[in-house]
Amino acid sequence: MTTTRYALCNCTILDGTKDMQPQPDMTVLVDGETIVSIQSAAIPLPDGFEVVDLDGAFLLPGLINLHSHHFGSGKPSKVLGEGKIQDLVMLFSKTGLGRKYLLSVMKKAVHNHLHSGVTTVRGVGDFRYVDVEVRDLINAGKLEGPRMFVSGPALTVATGHGDGTFAEVGDKPADFRAMVRDRVAHNVDFIKICTTGGVMDSSVPGEAGLPKMSVEQARACVNEAHRLGMKVASHTEGPEGLEVDLIAGVDTVEHGCPIPPDMEALYKLKGVCAVATVSVALPMAKLDPEVTHMPAVTQVNSQLVADRIIQGAKDAVRKHIPLGLGTDAGCPFVTQYDMWREIYHFSKLVEVSPAFALHTATLVNARILGIDKLTGSIEEGKCADLIVVERDPLEDLTALRDVKMVMARGNLIREPHVDRMPEVDAILDTLL
Ligand SMILES: [Zn+2]
Repeated sequence: MTTTRYALCNCTILDGTKDMQPQPDMTVLVDGETIVSIQSAAIPLPDGFEVVDLDGAFLLPGLINLHSHHFGSGKPSKVLGEGKIQDLVMLFSKTGLGRKYLLSVMKKAVHNHLHSGVTTVRGVGDFRYVDVEVRDLINAGKLEGPRMFVSGPALTVATGHGDGTFAEVGDKPADFRAMVRDRVAHNVDFIKICTTGGVMDSSVPGEAGLPKMSVEQARACVNEAHRLGMKVASHTEGPEGLEVDLIAGVDTVEHGCPIPPDMEALYKLKGVCAVATVSVALPMAKLDPEVTHMPAVTQVNSQLVADRIIQGAKDAVRKHIPLGLGTDAGCPFVTQYDMWREIYHFSKLVEVSPAFALHTATLVNARILGIDKLTGSIEEGKCADLIVVERDPLEDLTALRDVKMVMARGNLIREPHVDRMPEVDAILDTLL
């Protein structure tokens, strides 16, 4: 029988709170899923705990990724680049074999999340409710993986973001209300809508982030979701879309854009949170199109969106609007094992301290998910979602790249193994 009580000894704690300071020479006792004691290494250990000597390493809360997809690995591919091939792939996904394939891709994705230190992830749009199936397998103990919150397929309009791939199309408000009810019937955790276009579905410069959903359409989604107790996350990469979101009353604005004073007031009035995803626009904006193999227009639009995301995040921090972090994993050049890059780029480009970035990726993200009583920091009584890294991330956030151990809901992974793509890593490392 495996033990479920651990004494994580000889570690320096970074607890995930706002002004966290390293707490050296500590011991954390875990019983089942729960952190039962945080104590000085000088205090003798009680009986019945398996000792895990962390050898002076740093113990942190598990990371939380608020924005991920699982239908791809992050390796750039032309398969979902519109046109005939995409149509064929989507037809295949509707077959039994296609579903099996999607399931295997998704299992690998959640493995990489967990083994890279992400113990909670929010899936913001996947095909055919495979995300719901995977979440349920994990919760039933049949699959190792992070705690998951999933939306099923996103809601969009014709020619909108995700049309033809991870989203389904509506038109009239009644369509959207029915689509929301359908998702609730499939047991999703929240609703994802696409208020504006995105980089990958724009073909002329400046098109990325143009509004697609009307206030009436977005409001139909939001009102029906809220009536059924669901929150709404919105893909938004432009100013007109932000206005639609905030008038309609979504709960989280994903990606984001600069926040003028009237929008700041609406954010605060309605208690809306922002979720930045610096990782997704940066590579295609900053890398040579010869390296990305993307058309020149993609670089122009990525730069536009990257500037908006970064300025939006800066505005949110400065105006004290709750701001979380995600990666948009599954998109080109965004892997499921690179939450650490998001934290790194967020700190550098949004100009916040490593402690603030780490706090955002743990306790703030937990708060946005409404699970901060359960996880997001190292506190007695909270769930044992923990990671171990060798170097001090407050001195250098690249320390998060190599996670030495992961504990998710009390389950210890002593030797995490990430299925890396070295060719993608080498390209992304040029952005550090
Ligand atoms: Zn996304």
